[in-house]
Amino acid sequence: MAARALRRRTVTLMTGTVLAAVASTAPLQAASATPAGGTRPPPVDCRVTPCVALTFDDGPSDYTPAVLGALERQHAVATFFLIGPHALRLRADVLREGRDGDAIGDHTVTHPHLTLVPPARVRYELETAARQIASVTGHRPTIFRPPFGAWNAKVRAAAAAAGLAVVTWNVDPRDWQHHDTRLIERSVLARVRPGGIVVLHDRYATTPPAVPYLLRALTARGYALVTVPQLFATSGGMRPGVVYRHGPTPENGRVEHGAVS
Ligand SMILES: [Zn+2]
Repeated sequence: MAARALRRRTVTLMTGTVLAAVASTAPLQAASATPAGGTRPPPVDCRVTPCVALTFDDGPSDYTPAVLGALERQHAVATFFLIGPHALRLRADVLREGRDGDAIGDHTVTHPHLTLVPPARVRYELETAARQIASVTGHRPTIFRPPFGAWNAKVRAAAAAAGLAVVTWNVDPRDWQHHDTRLIERSVLARVRPGGIVVLHDRYATTPPAVPYLLRALTARGYALVTVPQLFATSGGMRPGVVYRHGPTPENGRVEHGAVS
């Protein structure tokens, strides 16, 4: 691994004033946390090399080992957004994700539509799942994916208070809807761009079989497979309460934080 790839860089974020308004806490230590947090130093600088982050929601489940096997065979990493009680029930899968260098994030306790529930319930969902995940991994998550991608000011405030950056996506092959492995593969490859965050689910039988092909095809196209924290590691890291929809691209070298409503 090149030394220059390990050097952390600081850039001036274009959305600095927005960030100052919504997140007064320090940047998360995106590139220096422990391997179990999936935040090893990035193998590449995603401002220079095209990167893509595959993310898997709603697990772990009985289908998680198939996803992990595919990632391990191709020496790739991904990001898993866990339901807290599922993590408690399938601890071995969560620990395997950590050992593999995958990133692990919070995906609530009961998977509600957070914009439709009271603030206290939002706080409960984020905080309880974070504690449940930490009780398994030993590391409190620093990233969070809202169920259904639904967020508003209330959700961002709760995420900020819980120390969680909010991660949505810009590539959705809708694996949860059609359960068609070939369609998942085609849809991702048709839509992915450098800096892309792809949402998948390791809770359906039809999703894991798409992973080996996606890894091969994305690699063949020159993409580096990275975790979500790695995607932002060389462009200022991630901050609690800020929404991230996709990472930096080699074209603009900049992060767009979807922190605009
Ligand atoms: Zn979900």
